[in-house]
Amino acid sequence: MSEQSDYFQLLQKNHGSQQGKHFWSGDRVTSAAAKLLNRKSLGEKLLDRILPLYEVSSELTKYSGLQSLYEGLNLLNPQYFRQDEVLRLLGKCHGLSNQQQKQLAGAVKVFLEIVNKTNLNPIQLNTLEILGLWWQIFPEKKPWDALKWLWQEGVAVPHSQSGFRSWWRFSQGSLPEKKSDEIFHPKKWVEICEQQTVFETAFEADRMAAVFSGEWRQAGSQGVCGDLPDCENCKLNTDCLWQTGQGNQEMMGIEEKIQRKKIKTEDVPELMKWLLSSNPEESNVLEGTVNKDAPLKGWNRERLKKLENLQPIGSKLIIRLEALRELCRNYSVEKLKPFQQFSSSRDIFIHFHQQLAKQKQEQFIIVLLDNKHRYLAEEDVTKGILNKSLVHPREVFASAIEHRAAALICVHNHPSGDPEPSQEDLRITERLVEVGKLVGIPVLDHVIVGGDEYTSFADRGLL
Ligand code: SF4
Repeated sequence: MSEQSDYFQLLQKNHGSQQGKHFWSGDRVTSAAAKLLNRKSLGEKLLDRILPLYEVSSELTKYSGLQSLYEGLNLLNPQYFRQDEVLRLLGKCHGLSNQQQKQLAGAVKVFLEIVNKTNLNPIQLNTLEILGLWWQIFPEKKPWDALKWLWQEGVAVPHSQSGFRSWWRFSQGSLPEKKSDEIFHPKKWVEICEQQTVFETAFEADRMAAVFSGEWRQAGSQGVCGDLPDCENCKLNTDCLWQTGQGNQEMMGIEEKIQRKKIKTEDVPELMKWLLSSNPEESNVLEGTVNKDAPLKGWNRERLKKLENLQPIGSKLIIRLEALRELCRNYSVEKLKPFQQFSSSRDIFIHFHQQLAKQKQEQFIIVLLDNKHRYLAEEDVTKGILNKSLVHPREVFASAIEHRAAALICVHNHPSGDPEPSQEDLRITERLVEVGKLVGIPVLDHVIVGGDEYTSFADRGLL
């Protein structure tokens, strides 16, 4: 397949020098160095690995409950064992369901078949025929785990899922995830690595793709084709289908859109579902509630309450949704820092928006500035229904004098969400401006925050 050769050829050409830096280019990939694996140890480690995948309780161990399975696995003769022997030793285990007994009996049978066929020689253990057997032992959707485990046990087997993803982007111009499990099965990747003609072994090809995809970041190799491909700085970009083709927007899954930076407003509900749901039950709940008519902004208390009643027991869906809202709300917030120059009423609005927009009561705050109109501090003056008697000039200016402020700005909120100044607001402001002139601390502005809007007295020429 030409596209496969191109990918590996380009990797070798541009990144070949990195190969020698990693331990995988040493003993592990040469057949001469391969040593037979220890059956007892491998069998026990296999059981340790697959029992949680079969949902066997962690209270059952090789010392209690599963003793006969662990011991029997080592004693059974791989050439002559009988299925009823396996079932008998599983029958002696306490705490396994019928289903688990059946699954484990199948796994033991396949393991013994592998032992018989390969004598646990690592070179034979990584052939496609034998890998097919390993994949039978690991339950549904865990075939990549089988490869990773084999690699940890010393078998030089191609196992880089992200390398496969990188190859797929390069040669197919899309992501494999949206295809069926059958296509994204590691079998396909092992075949690709075996068919390439650039590297000596399939394992070497896989390791190079792993480095390229960023899997060896901790070892000092910065990959470029990881979760967020850095196509601009990739030396393969002129040949890469992902980069040269635009991709079909209609067909793109949400993950592909994120990676290609193609998220549009209409994708937000889909993005929320992707971000929030980690299991099918939660996805189902979101399916009916997150849609284009329910933008993030519209997730008010009432709506959240409804979702709370629908979310699966123990789910944190609603809290995660609230967290997402808070993140978005705070994304552009840049708080004024001491001695930062105030340049417009908008700065004040941005600074106070999050704090005041959700307040149920009116709150009156003053921002104190130095003689260059730089931010010095802010002080709460009062909270509650505002009227002339509650916002007293004495308190406003006492604080300003204490901070040696040269000017001040008043800020308050309207819980109704309407930022239009009331008659009372106009009267209070007039009074404060008068006193400010008398004490030599001018009131530069009065900003009213109402929901996501604001009014500035200075901008409107009301001062
Ligand atoms: S151009 Fe982008 S997608 Fe293609 S191989 Fe390079 S990093 Fe990966």
